[in-house]
Amino acid sequence: MAKKAASYRMGIDLGGTKILAAVIGPDGAILGMAKKKTRDELGPDGVIKRMVDTANEAAAAAKISLKALAGVGVGAPSAVDFKTGVVYSASNLAGWDEVPLGARLQAALDLPVLVDNDVNLGTLGEFHLGAGRGCRHMVGIFVGTGVGGGIIVDGKLYRGARDAAGEIGHMIMQPDGPLCGCGRRGCLEAFASRTAIERVVRAQLAEGRPSILPELLAAEKDRMTSGVIKQALEAQDPLMVEAIGSAQYYLGLLVANLINALDPEMIVFGGGVVEALGGDFLAPIRETALPYLLQQRNADKIKIVPATLGDQAGVLGGAALLAPFTARKA
Ligand SMILES: [Zn+2]
Repeated sequence: MAKKAASYRMGIDLGGTKILAAVIGPDGAILGMAKKKTRDELGPDGVIKRMVDTANEAAAAAKISLKALAGVGVGAPSAVDFKTGVVYSASNLAGWDEVPLGARLQAALDLPVLVDNDVNLGTLGEFHLGAGRGCRHMVGIFVGTGVGGGIIVDGKLYRGARDAAGEIGHMIMQPDGPLCGCGRRGCLEAFASRTAIERVVRAQLAEGRPSILPELLAAEKDRMTSGVIKQALEAQDPLMVEAIGSAQYYLGLLVANLINALDPEMIVFGGGVVEALGGDFLAPIRETALPYLLQQRNADKIKIVPATLGDQAGVLGGAALLAPFTARKA
């Protein structure tokens, strides 16, 4: 790994729908960015080619040669072996299993490449350059289609013994509970993700309860987007108010468990649902969590805050993998 002090580096965020690449300066500033659709139907070969193209476009946008970069940090939406850069079973990328993404990109770009799980990198980005700046112990919770998490202990991303730590979306809240995307029952994700909120609301609609939702969904080709959830909540739609309240309750229990286990200074909430609903979404989560904290002393000082970097958290976290940032003139 190149250890150029004060170096430029690139972050690439590989998502199920889009690839984002950015050139990041030594202080964490984004100097150039490019975006492409993932087109996962092309399979790993086609998608890796698109990642290389996106990387070249980001370098061109930053007016910098790829050769000037210290390396590339890549986030993938799947389990990743951080030491080898191999991507395992990316459930939202067709045909991706045991793909040596790190080695393939390293060969194509002729640069050192590190690969990690995308949510780990989102957490790392928020820790270094977003909501978590200045703290040592932090947990990132990302609520979207699923619920993902990342854990920072003593200033470092905690990966665990098999690079598998941080899967807080699959903490068991109720052993015989609703079916989760992972095939098990009663995981937090089955109670608190956008998918779970949609399932609860649609079951109620099927029972014929009055709601503004059919009207909102019709305008979005029947897709339960974060925008639809926000509008229904703003209109005080009773089905959505109940479903969100339930999600917040389970997220509150999760937060209490995490605080009791890890004693972080801060919990940062990001992801599509949180971005759409804003900081107000977090107050009931905090209210649920606080009484469950074993250590009540200074419990009110634990910060539970929204993420600030949006969809740039992943590329910034990727850049943070390669070298520490220099202090920023803020
Ligand atoms: Zn699960």
